[in-house]
Amino acid sequence: MIGIIGAMEVEIRNILDKMENIKTKNIGNVDYYQGELGGRSVLVALCRVGKVNAAHATSIMIANFDVTGIINVGVAGGISADVGIGDVVVSSDLVQHDVDATTFGYALGHVPSLDDAFFAADGALVNATKKAGENVLAKYGRKLHIGRIATGDQFIASPIDKVMIEGNFGALAVEMEGAAIAQVCTLTNTPFVVIRAISDKADGTAHEDFPAFVDETAQISAAIVMDMVSNL
Ligand code: SAH
Repeated sequence: MIGIIGAMEVEIRNILDKMENIKTKNIGNVDYYQGELGGRSVLVALCRVGKVNAAHATSIMIANFDVTGIINVGVAGGISADVGIGDVVVSSDLVQHDVDATTFGYALGHVPSLDDAFFAADGALVNATKKAGENVLAKYGRKLHIGRIATGDQFIASPIDKVMIEGNFGALAVEMEGAAIAQVCTLTNTPFVVIRAISDKADGTAHEDFPAFVDETAQISAAIVMDMVSNL
């Protein structure tokens, strides 16, 4: 069974609407929805915003359900100038941009005691997303990008923070959960991929763009997940 995690209700709503025979379980204050999507068994979780909520929901999912892989679906701020609103960024790998133990000689983003700052997504899941993304995005006239996603407990809405995240990490997009899910998946050898549609440009207009585009863009990433899951 494939696990699907979204931080906000808007990010999973379209998927839940298409699911059949849903059974709901609340564990650790997180709602898990088990059912069928396009004939496949799936488990959807609403994790809430931020790294701790995301890690909490992911750990519970892996410990309590028989998931063979995890997809994190949702929206993100665009970091690279190439990435426009409505485009989709699929994670090659993820990093926590707000982790700093450089005093001890660690690279920025490297959590001390872990092997690496970067958590690589599963190649097969990335390829499956690419295939589904190309189908779906042709309809929306948007682009698919594969690259690094940076995660932190901050809503990025300033050109200065944006330049820092691009310069320090070469990230294409920024959000608040992906690397936490990636870290838990890496620790537990669970294949994962993060799929984010761009809701804003993480700059001075992000506070206006996010509410204006969140519904439409969340629908794009959900559409890719649905196409992908039915072909997995
Ligand atoms: N408006 C919401 C909070 C949204 S926080 C509320 O009031 O509850 C932003 C969410 O979208 C996070 O889950 C994050 O992963 C993603 N996101 C979109 N754009 C972002 C940006 N510019 N910086 C950080 N996260 C962003």
